Amino acid sequence: MPTCKNCNHPFTITDADKTFYARINVPAPTLCPDCREQRRLVFRNERNYYRRQCDLCQKNIISVYDPAVTSNVYCNACWWGDGWDAKNYAREFDWSRPFFEQYRELLAAVPKIAMMNDNGSQSVNCEYTYDFAFGKNAYMVVAAWRVEDSMYGLQTNWVKDSVDNINVNHSELMYESVACEESYGCQQCQQCQGCRDCIFGYDLRGCHDCILSSGLRNQAYCIWNKPYSKEAYEQEKAKLGLDSWASREACKQRFAEFILKTPRKYANLLKCQDSTGDNLVRCKNSQYCFVQTGLQDCKFMIHGDGAKDCYDCRDTGGPELCYDSITPDNSYQALFVVFCWKSQYVAYSDNCHGVKNIFGCVGMKKAHHCILNKQYDEFAYEALKGKIIEHMQKTGEWGQFFSPAVTLFAYNETAAQEWSPLTKEQAVALGYRWQEALPELSGKETLTSNDIPDSINQVTENICNEVLACVDCGKNYKVIKQEYEIYKKLSVPIPRRCVLCRYQQRSALMNPKKLWHRQCMCQEQHDWHQGGGCKNEFETTYSPDRPERVYCEECYQKEIY
Ligand SMILES: [Zn+2]
Ligand SMILES: [Zn+2]
Ligand SMILES: [Zn+2]
Ligand SMILES: [Zn+2]
Ligand SMILES: [Zn+2]
Repeated sequence: MPTCKNCNHPFTITDADKTFYARINVPAPTLCPDCREQRRLVFRNERNYYRRQCDLCQKNIISVYDPAVTSNVYCNACWWGDGWDAKNYAREFDWSRPFFEQYRELLAAVPKIAMMNDNGSQSVNCEYTYDFAFGKNAYMVVAAWRVEDSMYGLQTNWVKDSVDNINVNHSELMYESVACEESYGCQQCQQCQGCRDCIFGYDLRGCHDCILSSGLRNQAYCIWNKPYSKEAYEQEKAKLGLDSWASREACKQRFAEFILKTPRKYANLLKCQDSTGDNLVRCKNSQYCFVQTGLQDCKFMIHGDGAKDCYDCRDTGGPELCYDSITPDNSYQALFVVFCWKSQYVAYSDNCHGVKNIFGCVGMKKAHHCILNKQYDEFAYEALKGKIIEHMQKTGEWGQFFSPAVTLFAYNETAAQEWSPLTKEQAVALGYRWQEALPELSGKETLTSNDIPDSINQVTENICNEVLACVDCGKNYKVIKQEYEIYKKLSVPIPRRCVLCRYQQRSALMNPKKLWHRQCMCQEQHDWHQGGGCKNEFETTYSPDRPERVYCEECYQKEIY
C-alpha cells in the first residue's frame, strides 16, 4: 500500500485504478485522495470577491482577484471578447528550469477573467456568479449551470426561482434546501425527491404538503409525520406561523432534534447501481463520489453532472476520460487543468476553451497545438510535448497536479480552507500565501435585525434599500429585489443571517465527503438479523463518533412509511 507523500497516510491503488492510469498514460498518484482534493481546491476562490477595475476597459468590476496582489484582470465582456489575444503572451520552453515555474509566470502574465462564468457569451445577467454557465438572472450562484432567476446556490443545476440551496437539481421555487431532486416549492428540506410544497422535510419521496416530517413515501397533509385532513392541515399549518422568523427558528431547532431520533439511511443514493459515496442520483459503477448526477465509471469525483470515465475531478459537467482537474466541463481527455471547457487533449492548462491539443497554456480560445501559448505545427507540437514530459519526469512534476506555488490565490481565500482548514502558520509552511484581510463589510447597517418585522407579511419592498447586519457574525448583507419577491411568494421571513453564515449552516447539513466502513446499527426484530442486531455492512459518510442511528437499506426501508 503506498503512503501519501503529503500526509503520510496509507491509501489504496486498485487494479482498476491502474488500468485507468494506463489508459490516459499517467503514473499512479503519490498523494492520497484527500490531499489531491486539497491541492486542487486552492485554485478555486468561490466566495471572496474584491472591487477593482477591468485592466482593458477600465470599468469598475467585482473579481475573485485581490487588486493589491494580482494584476491583468479583465471584466467578463472584455475577457471573452476579441480585443486581446492570448498568443501575444507566448514563450519558449526553458530546459534549465522546472515546468511549473515557467507556467506560473505565464499564468501571472496572461489576462484573467474577473469571475469564472460565461456571462455575455452563453449566460445573461449572471455577472456575479462563479464557476457558472448557461444561466439567466442568477446572483452569487457557485458551481452550477442551467440556473434561472436564482440566488446564493451551490452545486444546483437546472433550477429556477430558488434561493439558498446546496445540491438541489431539476427543481423550481426551492428555499434553503440541500440534496433535493425534482421538487417544487419546497423549503428547508433535505434529501427530498419528487416533492411539492413541503416545509422542513427529511427524506420525503413523492410527497406534497408535508411539514416537519421525515421518511415519508407518497404522503400528503402530514405534520410531524401525522396525517391530517386537508382542512385540518391548513389550520395546523397556520398555527405554526411560518411567516415569522422567530417561529421558523424554533421549528428548525425542533426539527433537527426530531430527525436525529429517527434512523438514517447509510447514504443518499437514488437510482444508483454499484456505486459508493453520498448524494448520488442515477450513477453507475462509480466509487467514492459525492454530490453527482448521471455518473458512469468514475472515482473520487466531487460535485458534478454527467461525467464518464473520470477520476479526481471537481465541480464539472459532461467530462469524459478526464483526470485530476478543476471543472473540465464538456471536455475529453483533460488532465491537470483548471477551468478548461469544451476542450480535447489538453493538459496543464488554465482557462482554455474550445481548444484541442494544448499543453501548458493559459487563456487560449479555440486554439490547437500550442505550448506555453506558442503555436507549433502538429509534428513539432507532439515532439516538444514528449520532450517536456520527459523533463517533467526528471523534475518530479509529471503526473502531479500544480504545486502550491502555482496558484494565484491565498490558501484562506479558496475552497481548500473549507475542505481542510489550516492556520496561517500551517498554510505558509506548506508554501501557500495567506490573505490577512478578506473582503467584507461591517458597521454600515441602516437597519438592525430587531427592526426587521418578524413576519414577512409586514415587510415591504423597501427592505431592498436597507443594509442589514447578520445576527451571527455582524457583517453586512442585503436582500435583492428578486430574492424579496421569492420570500413573499413562499411566505418566508427575511433572513437575519448574512449570505456566508446561511451557507455555512446549510453546508453543515451535508455530510463530509469521506467514507467509513461500518455495520448497520439496527437492533429491531427484523427477519435477516437472526437473533442479535443487523450484521449488514456499508460505506457511509456518517463517521462512527456521530450521534445518528445509521441503518442499512433493508432495515431503513422497514422503518419508513
Ligand atoms: Zn494525504
Ligand atoms: Zn472590461
Ligand atoms: Zn454572518
Ligand atoms: Zn440493517
Ligand atoms: Zn434491522
